[in-house]
Amino acid sequence: GMAGQRLHDRMQARADQGNRPMEKEDLIFVGVCDLSGHVRGKAFPAGDLESRLRKGMGYTGANIMMSAFGPIQDNPFGTIGDLALIPDPSTKVDVEFAGCAPERLYLADIRTPAGEPWPCCPRDFLRRAVEALQRECGLEIISAFEQEFVYRGADARPGTTYGLDSFRHQGLFGEAFVSAIRRAGVTPDSFLPEYAPRQYEVTVAPAAGMRAADEAVIVREMARAVGFRLGHRVMLTPVVELGEVGNGTHIHFSLRGAAGRPVMHDPARPYGLSEVAEPFVAGILHHLPALAALTAPSVVSYLRLRPDRWAPVFANLAERDRGAALRICAVFETALENAAQQFNVEFRVCDATASPYMALGAIVHAGLDGMRKRMRLEAPPAKTVWDMTEEERQAAGVTTLPGSLGEALDRLRADETACSWLGPELLDAYLRLKLAEIRAVKGQSDEAVCARYAAAY
Ligand code: GLU
Ligand code: MG
Repeated sequence: GMAGQRLHDRMQARADQGNRPMEKEDLIFVGVCDLSGHVRGKAFPAGDLESRLRKGMGYTGANIMMSAFGPIQDNPFGTIGDLALIPDPSTKVDVEFAGCAPERLYLADIRTPAGEPWPCCPRDFLRRAVEALQRECGLEIISAFEQEFVYRGADARPGTTYGLDSFRHQGLFGEAFVSAIRRAGVTPDSFLPEYAPRQYEVTVAPAAGMRAADEAVIVREMARAVGFRLGHRVMLTPVVELGEVGNGTHIHFSLRGAAGRPVMHDPARPYGLSEVAEPFVAGILHHLPALAALTAPSVVSYLRLRPDRWAPVFANLAERDRGAALRICAVFETALENAAQQFNVEFRVCDATASPYMALGAIVHAGLDGMRKRMRLEAPPAKTVWDMTEEERQAAGVTTLPGSLGEALDRLRADETACSWLGPELLDAYLRLKLAEIRAVKGQSDEAVCARYAAAY
């Protein structure tokens, strides 16, 4: 209120006296990108780092039930339970911004007081998958997240799709953002104006296992951090404007064997997928409708997954089709890297309301199930899905993706194998969280749903 404002002004005046900046102390934030895809946590004085790396920061079960919109809507844990956010030293971010507050943070695991992984820890969901892939198959997953967003500091002018003028209109954002990414320990690959008004995309170099998901979180947060310091919002929500192309998060992945050797490519086989890669991709395809509950995990996610938006609508695999759920990316003969190194598959059924840990974890768990069961792919169809009739699609075994979050959750519940990756505690917590999210926007128009998520992401 007014009194608070006057007090604030007095303090500011005192701080400005003699041009002396206000005394301050470095703070370090420890957070987890939770089931709602938000990074939440706590900060501590930097001097306590050594002890905080060991004991972490206090957390409780109910923390994981914080919804997309903030408040806890359903909570199996009640007020009971002590857990800790344990910072992972490899995720350290320490990025200064001239004249502004820095970003100092660590990403964390959620552990029990005994130091055990908590069953609902998103990072542990991915870790279990990555470790099993290594243990059972001797394989490592390399991936890179390609993230799209709308930057509100730019003009929304027609005709600027992919345009130099759209690139120019983001002003200082792009360069400050790429610098922040690099200083945060991530290697930037490209920054571009995207299709929709003031929509941009950032890509980074691929990384192994957990690191790729950590980097996806760091990149999102650096986008928000730079936007904030320039006085503008970065909007990662899947659909900002109902009539426009949405914001996707695409996950490019490949598999590496012993000594980092790429093992995914065999140009002589269908889709160019090696014998090792085929069952992995078949597993993802098989579980796709259930996976959507984790990779496209919001009500608004399904307003993006619609025809004519360069977003997938079928649970399909295709070569070089940017409308497919899984795209085999082209290999360029003229590139410096050889074909085996370049070859990768892109998972397009993901957006920024997903925790990268849950999304990548779901992909690896599903791929591994394909390996265990030696799943096979159908022969590539002679036509694209877009040229097929409904009957032809059925004959080719192409199904549609879930049409809503409710349907995706039903598909998850119906997929016993997928449920087992989560385990009973995480499955229960996740279903409660997401069913409450559906109730929170029930009966609202598509426009209202977009606006509600746009305010939160
Ligand atoms: N914006 C599209 C999406 O929602 C993707 C466009 C592209 O191919 O980069 O996934
Ligand atoms: Mg794009």
